[in-house]
Amino acid sequence: MMADITYKSKINRIRSFALSLVFIGFGIMYIGLLFKSTEWLMILFMIFGTLAIIFSTVVYFWIGLLSTRAIPIICPTCEKPTKMLGRVDACMHCKQPLTLDKNLEGKEFDESYNSKKKKSPK
Ligand SMILES: [Zn+2]
Repeated sequence: MMADITYKSKINRIRSFALSLVFIGFGIMYIGLLFKSTEWLMILFMIFGTLAIIFSTVVYFWIGLLSTRAIPIICPTCEKPTKMLGRVDACMHCKQPLTLDKNLEGKEFDESYNSKKKKSPK
């Protein structure tokens, strides 16, 4: 069951989230154009679209901040430099699960060490 989940490095994941926000923003604006006849509705969509794009900029800025705090390491599997956020993260290049905590070494890669979002089956 664990095998079909592909892990992405956190920085990559946030980056794709920010990118999708840009598309969502433009999507909302496009929907707004379909309501040209109803001016207030169009303006509302435009505002939301702009907000989504502004928010994505904020997220990109946040990635920049996170990157400076991330720990640069050389991935033991693909030997490329990657950055780690938190105790467990995945390699940016080969998605190899990585840990900084010796106690977690060798254990099943488990996202719940970072957040409570995903529960691992006991
Ligand atoms: Zn790697």
